[in-house]
Amino acid sequence: MTRPIQMVDTRSQYLQIKTAIDTAIHEVLDSAAYINGKAVQDFAAALGAYLDVKHTIPCANGTDALQIAMMALGLQPGDEVITPSFTYIATTEVVALLKLKPVFVEVDPQTFCIDPAALRKAITPKTKAIVPVHLYGQAAPMEEIMQIANEFAIPVIEDNAQAIGCHYLFSDGTKKKTGTIGTIGATSFYPSKNLGAFGDGGAIFTNDDQLAHNMLMIANHGQSKRYYHDVVGCNSRLDSIQAAVLNIKLKHLDRYNAARQEVAAFYDQAFEASDAIITPFKAAYSTHVYHQYTIILEKGNRDELNRYLAEHKIPSMIYYPVPGHKQRMFDSFGLPKLDMPQTDWLTERVISLPIHTEMDEEQMAYIAEHVLKFVKK
Ligand SMILES: *Cc1c(COP(=O)(O)O)cnc(C)c1O
Repeated sequence: MTRPIQMVDTRSQYLQIKTAIDTAIHEVLDSAAYINGKAVQDFAAALGAYLDVKHTIPCANGTDALQIAMMALGLQPGDEVITPSFTYIATTEVVALLKLKPVFVEVDPQTFCIDPAALRKAITPKTKAIVPVHLYGQAAPMEEIMQIANEFAIPVIEDNAQAIGCHYLFSDGTKKKTGTIGTIGATSFYPSKNLGAFGDGGAIFTNDDQLAHNMLMIANHGQSKRYYHDVVGCNSRLDSIQAAVLNIKLKHLDRYNAARQEVAAFYDQAFEASDAIITPFKAAYSTHVYHQYTIILEKGNRDELNRYLAEHKIPSMIYYPVPGHKQRMFDSFGLPKLDMPQTDWLTERVISLPIHTEMDEEQMAYIAEHVLKFVKK
């Protein structure tokens, strides 16, 4: 291998656009507007235009974005929030933090996203929000989810942290970007995300003026005008340097997602003939932006594959080894004992292979060759 293989290669990506990034960062340093400077406003406007959404509110990270969304909806302690168990902990952690009640539901093992039938069954008169997650860059079936949500008049918060730039196609032919379909969308600019900053960052989206007003206030100490605090809020800001970096990278996002799709297509083809590997599902209703390339190892032990690859200098990751409903953090919540066979089945079999915007064909071929060698053993 001429270049070592990494799960993500943010440094090589930076070097491709170094001059533009360095200039943008220096502009912020010269302006000395480190917080809420022009770069933040420019980025919010550019991202809103890219996503085609009315309001974009930058904040400190994706976890805060979810929390601010839930606070803006006025959720009260004990209100039920439906989320998949098979997701990154941030989605459900904020539910717990706000003393809401997490209601974990199964995912569809094909899409890795919330199963609409399980969602419908989990709705009670106390359900006050639904939080679908577009896991690994594959959109959840939003058309069905929105139908159910509208039927019961329950707001939907899309966790779009892994799917920025993903297009959704509705059966009537309308197209929307994920994150702009539900009542509110939340995203993260953690460095390894498809649109990643050089530190933490996040944003919240909505087409609803009142919610946008609430979220803007909540993210800024609940203040309506300086030193007048109308509601309990928090301090959640995107800093100007991160905004400047993101503004440059946003221009490349579609190209970055296309590069990920090319890596995925290479893997798909390499694994096509193997009956041991299930490659990621591609829904007819959306594009897939491959935040992760996650396979299901149907035959063979994925932990052994993980070790085998490591021995050959190929990193791989288990996202996520423990589903939400089995995390000890919820022990004190008195939740019912849940039987989640699909989630457990996936949790034991998934493994994510390296995928990023700077992979070359030699690396992809080397990885595919070793995965295939392992499954044939
Ligand atoms: C990364 C991520 C988050 C949290 O974002 P941070 O910026 O790390 O706080 C939330 N949900 C999902 C699905 C994520 O992947």
